[in-house]
Amino acid sequence: MQTPRRTFLRHAAIGTSLAALSKLAVAQQAKSPSAKPGSLPVLFIGHGSPMNAISDNAFTQTLHRWGRRLPQPTAVLVVSAHWLSRGVTGVTAHEAPPTIHDFQGFPDELQQMQYPAKGHPELARRAAALVRSNPAIATDKWGLDHGTWTVLHHLYPDASVPVFQVSIDYDKPAAFHHAAGRELAALREMGVLIIGSGNLVHNLRATEDFPDGLAASRPWAQNFDRAVKSALAAGDEKALLAYESLDREARMAVPTPDHYWPFLYALGAGGRKPPATVFEGFQRGTLGMRCLQWA
Ligand code: ZN
Repeated sequence: MQTPRRTFLRHAAIGTSLAALSKLAVAQQAKSPSAKPGSLPVLFIGHGSPMNAISDNAFTQTLHRWGRRLPQPTAVLVVSAHWLSRGVTGVTAHEAPPTIHDFQGFPDELQQMQYPAKGHPELARRAAALVRSNPAIATDKWGLDHGTWTVLHHLYPDASVPVFQVSIDYDKPAAFHHAAGRELAALREMGVLIIGSGNLVHNLRATEDFPDGLAASRPWAQNFDRAVKSALAAGDEKALLAYESLDREARMAVPTPDHYWPFLYALGAGGRKPPATVFEGFQRGTLGMRCLQWA
């Protein structure tokens, strides 16, 4: 829930320390992980406020039920709106990734929370090797940010599934992120559950006190969310990539693309068949909480 500008500056380090990180570039030495039969689903989760980690509401209750229905993956890969890079795609490759509290002004209970999942360096390196369209680097310079752990806390409460993250190169256009999602899709056959974590409608300057529910407090939020839903049902990837034209007031719904792009990774990895809607509605008036699952 930081402002996109601060998020960008705070996370830009990976772009400026490419040389240092390259020592960790092990993509070429990646070993083949043991493959599991079948293909794992792909999820998109609208994560909203970090407070959802410690809240009991319709959204978090849905995450709990969802987690119980999902297969037990070998690992979870999250593309979070809160890890942005420049000129490179980062992949976390720790044995034990730290929990990052990348927010301020929230209760101590949230600041102290830990999500002690292990990493999966082998699959992380495999993921880095799959990204052909950008320099991809396995790194231990990040961890699990709140776009990841605030939702996994509900999906997999015991933190028993290894987790790694892939960064979003903020300099790249929408088509790149969609293509990168398609490149990563091969991980589904290796037992990896791919999750994009962002929000389809995300304008922190326009949130307000308003009851959570299916109705947004502003027409532009409702209209944009509805336009995405329609384009998904129609399988109209072109419209979803050109999100600025999805609605007359799309700029209000997506003033900066950091929370929309995780959706494009999920769309790319999920394939052409329309996803199922697992949750829909709004928090704080205009935060679109739509959650999707590709079979
Ligand atoms: Zn966020």
